[in-house]
Amino acid sequence: MKTPRSFSRRPADLSRRQSLGLFAGAAVSPFVLSPFALSSGARAQNAVIKVVTTTSMIADAARQVGGDRVEVTALMGPGVDPHAYRQTRTDILALSRADVVLWHGLYLEAQMEEFLLGLAQKRPVVAVGESVAVEKRLGNDDYADRFDPHVWMDPALWRDVVTAVRDALIEAAPNDQALFEANTTRHLAEIDNLAVYASNVLASVPKRSRVLLSAHDAFNYFGSAYGYDVEGIQGISTEAEAGLRRIEELVALIVERDVKAVFIESSVSDRNVRALIEGAGAQGHDLSIGGELFSDAMGPAGSYEGTYIGMIDHNATTIARALGGEAPELGMRGALTLATSTGQ
Ligand SMILES: [Zn+2]
Repeated sequence: MKTPRSFSRRPADLSRRQSLGLFAGAAVSPFVLSPFALSSGARAQNAVIKVVTTTSMIADAARQVGGDRVEVTALMGPGVDPHAYRQTRTDILALSRADVVLWHGLYLEAQMEEFLLGLAQKRPVVAVGESVAVEKRLGNDDYADRFDPHVWMDPALWRDVVTAVRDALIEAAPNDQALFEANTTRHLAEIDNLAVYASNVLASVPKRSRVLLSAHDAFNYFGSAYGYDVEGIQGISTEAEAGLRRIEELVALIVERDVKAVFIESSVSDRNVRALIEGAGAQGHDLSIGGELFSDAMGPAGSYEGTYIGMIDHNATTIARALGGEAPELGMRGALTLATSTGQ
């Protein structure tokens, strides 16, 4: 899930007008004027609340908090890169029918930001990731004036996001406040258990080996929460010679720190991983592939890994086991369905 590093930015006011124009076009469609698409003000008290989210992690939070009072649609499914995603015509229709739109913000949805800011002028649209206090945020290596958006990697920060989802749903359906509050209390307790589990299993890895080698820059909050050094395989430059230097640098680190595994994300090229394993092998160091981590999207819908708890359980369990720590093969609750160790 490589972040696009360069894209042309149009003047904000022009894009804002274009976004609103597109949206207005969708709003006059006959579908939108059907009795099933009442605006939030006109929604019957017992009708379900239509929630549209950008990422699947936010959709999970909305389902946890909203229970059967909400009907949640996530625009970005498993394997979708939020940094590069741009709204489709189907998305615009769904957004126009939503009672509440929840997006992450913090420049995660870089290609949708202007559209969503425009939409916020006319509908309840909440950037729930921006509920994380500024002093808890990490900087962004690529944009000096932005923050690192990957706050879900630290359950302690995700608590704040879930709380913001609760507040947005209460705003949309004040009559359901007690239910949303009870659901949130229950889910926050699960998140706290997850944080304790992750902290314990990750602390079982020898200190020297607490190095997370992965594809892109999604794991800085994880590293900061659990005391791991995070290194990306792919440097900024795609130039072959620079890539080779980066591999040499990482091999030296792997040998020095006795790192046992490298992790894959769908976007890491095998070539780089192989080069790393071969390079370490040439130094007499056995490096294996530690498994696949979920970075910017959850696992398959309907699976345990397709929930926030399951996603982070999978990552923490996979990392701890692969780097020489101790964690149950099936994770915190014995519920993991995907391999947490490739057994190489
Ligand atoms: Zn990312």
